[in-house]
Amino acid sequence: MISKPKGTVDLTDKKARCWKYVEEVIDSVMEKYNYNYIRTPIFEASELFHRGIGDSTDIVTKETYDFKDRGDRSITLRPEGTAGVVRSYIENKMYGKNNLPVKVYYNGTMYRYERPQKGRLRELSQYGVEVLGSTDPMMDAEVISLAYNINKMLGLTDTVVHINSLGDKESRDKYREALKSYFKPHLDDLCDDCKERFDKNPLRIIDCKIDSNKDYFKDAPNILDYLNKESKEHFEKVCEYLDILEVKYVIDPKIVRGLDYYNHTVFELMTEESNLALGGGGRYDNLVSTLDGPETSCVGYAVGLDRLVDLLMEKELTTNVRDYIDAFIMYVNEDEKKNAIYLANELRMSGFVVETEYTKKSLKSQFKRADYFNSKYLILLNSDDLNEGLVTIKNNKTKEEEKIMMEYIIYYFDEHISDDNLPIDYHNHDEEEV
Ligand SMILES: [Zn+2]
Repeated sequence: MISKPKGTVDLTDKKARCWKYVEEVIDSVMEKYNYNYIRTPIFEASELFHRGIGDSTDIVTKETYDFKDRGDRSITLRPEGTAGVVRSYIENKMYGKNNLPVKVYYNGTMYRYERPQKGRLRELSQYGVEVLGSTDPMMDAEVISLAYNINKMLGLTDTVVHINSLGDKESRDKYREALKSYFKPHLDDLCDDCKERFDKNPLRIIDCKIDSNKDYFKDAPNILDYLNKESKEHFEKVCEYLDILEVKYVIDPKIVRGLDYYNHTVFELMTEESNLALGGGGRYDNLVSTLDGPETSCVGYAVGLDRLVDLLMEKELTTNVRDYIDAFIMYVNEDEKKNAIYLANELRMSGFVVETEYTKKSLKSQFKRADYFNSKYLILLNSDDLNEGLVTIKNNKTKEEEKIMMEYIIYYFDEHISDDNLPIDYHNHDEEEV
């Protein structure tokens, strides 16, 4: 038997339907906000990630899937979604179309060679948003509230956004110096990663999982004290707009994000109860020019779908995930079967979820299979009735049945099913009858 590679998952059954449901909610909310779907390649030239995401970032230095293709090109499976979108923006000259800001969202798989003991996925799925071409703090607030509202639409009402500002380059340079002089006396005590970060990216020492609980971290410099006037104003506006948008947020100076390209606003989406990070993002005003495009201010975020779906399943926020079918068509002989084929097609094309029998099983087995699929209605075909143009329809919950003219079956379902769209609860069925 061949097993799936380490760090990958198979999505099946209810979880797969929950996944599709989450994607539908995302699509539908994005549409309301007028974000266009964008689909970029899963593999890109390696240079895109090395220049774009930055060589001091773990997901590029330690975790990328790099390979040479048969034409000896250096190829990398995308470890995140932003670089590809920015590349596409530049290559397709989206900036020249007088339509700024460009607002797009993606949804797809990313690849990171994570250490398996962390229980993380090597093929992970993220949906994300990128807005290219606006410096307005209104944009930061819209993007944050979009992430927040999608969670809300999914029923995740305990989301809280942790936000921080990394300021502009001037503010960050000052802060970086302050951090270095603060941590210098403790350099020997820091973990190996932090020793490296000290020169390359000292901001990331702040959120080190290993060191950040140490005593001397308590008095470490706070980025918010180093913001210059402009950066401070930007951040205050973002918070002001988030208040209008009724987003629940806390200012959290520990949020620095793992990527090199962020400036000004950075944020993470957390669950309030369990403090689980669902995703995050921020403003990145220099990435487009780093990748040889025109100066373009951007803001975006990404959220892990795997964790989001797990959370919905755990919290049983799945009442909108279909776990029933509308009708199961039952038959025995060949004549009835032809009618079953015809009826299934008619009903499906009219928008109903319909199953029938394919393996010549007995009626008894067909009843069992209908229950397995949680069928709302059973359609029983028998030759005598069919000769008179009749079919039997049985409500599988109330067990009431009636004969109707086959030609009226779509009207029947229109009337009985559209306003009764919640799944039946089979477990309570027996109690209800008492
Ligand atoms: Zn450390």
